Amino acid sequence: MKVPLLDLQGQYQGLREDLLAAITRVMDSQRFVLGDEGRALEAEIAQYSGTKFAIGCASGSDALLLALMALDVKAGDEVITTPFSFFATGSAITRLGARPVFVDIDPLTYNIDSNAVAHALTPRTKAIMPVHLYGQCADMDTLNKIAARRGIPLVEDAAQAIGAEAAGRRAGSLGVIGCFSFYPTKNLGGAGDGGIMTTDDSGLAARLRTLRVHGGAIEYSHSEVGINSRLDELQAAVLRVKLRHLDRWSNQRLQNARRYEELLAEQQPQFDLTTPYVRKEVRHIFHQYVLRVPEHRDALVKHLAESGVGSGIYYPIPLHLQECFAFLGYEEGDCPEAERAARETLALPIYPELTEAQQQYVVAAVVSFRPS
Ligand SMILES: *Cc1c(COP(=O)(O)O)cnc(C)c1O
Repeated sequence: MKVPLLDLQGQYQGLREDLLAAITRVMDSQRFVLGDEGRALEAEIAQYSGTKFAIGCASGSDALLLALMALDVKAGDEVITTPFSFFATGSAITRLGARPVFVDIDPLTYNIDSNAVAHALTPRTKAIMPVHLYGQCADMDTLNKIAARRGIPLVEDAAQAIGAEAAGRRAGSLGVIGCFSFYPTKNLGGAGDGGIMTTDDSGLAARLRTLRVHGGAIEYSHSEVGINSRLDELQAAVLRVKLRHLDRWSNQRLQNARRYEELLAEQQPQFDLTTPYVRKEVRHIFHQYVLRVPEHRDALVKHLAESGVGSGIYYPIPLHLQECFAFLGYEEGDCPEAERAARETLALPIYPELTEAQQQYVVAAVVSFRPS
């Protein structure tokens, strides 16, 4: 048997007719940018996330960039974020000439250590940008309290967390602006790049709509310099078909996570292994199912590959140690928990269509590992 880390074919085969009909509808309209499909998807995502507005854009990376632009983040400002994330979380900040201030993670959830954020505030702090890593919301309660005391906006990097909830509220509605990615491997993935921003603030929504069309709310009249970043009609049409199935897929991911938990508890690996920690009162949507293996992680990855089981490391180099961010002056040891997570974690296949037999095979492969 082979179990890849992710297999998009199963999902596609089930939706093939609906997807091709949606694509045909757009082709027949010959309307490709900022049309009915995009507007309809924006309304559907706003409703799904529990916000008043949603504004499409070209990628999750652009969503982060546009969000910070709309909040007037500029050269010399600081944005507090996590060092344990996809690269775009950090680069959105540096692209505006602002400085990412990396606060170490909570070793249980791998999300930013909310209590440490208060100590990182300075007079230059312009925004706080937590990431809901692997599909579990960061501790937004604490972060919102810290941010509110100083009137600093929270931007959610919810790229991995569409449909995730904390205390009954959806990711994207827990800060001032929520940023989502529709990259094909995300829980709601398009047929290419795409992204969206959510907000309850009508002023910010208008600003985001302007920024994504080169800062020109009125065509050919530019009030500020924006970028070109739209969600095209083909993507929107595809995403609307898939959005109808998202909650079912999220529930299947959760079920798969529970099954891993049971199988691993039954079969007792002969090495130290920690399964994901799920906070109380959250809906974890398991974008990734991540194990911590304090010793021999790389040997386990190799053993799994030899058994035909795909795994992934998210992420092998924390942001504060990336070569391109050397100018920020961080050193090894500055964020010890992020560095440890980068050494010790690996993700197992968790996609919705995974079968029980496949999961048994994955767990058998894990358990058969013998560190040498
Ligand atoms: C995927 C991802 C992004 C970027 O999204 P793209 O659509 O690939 O640009 C940003 N942040 C996180 C945490 C992500 O996982």
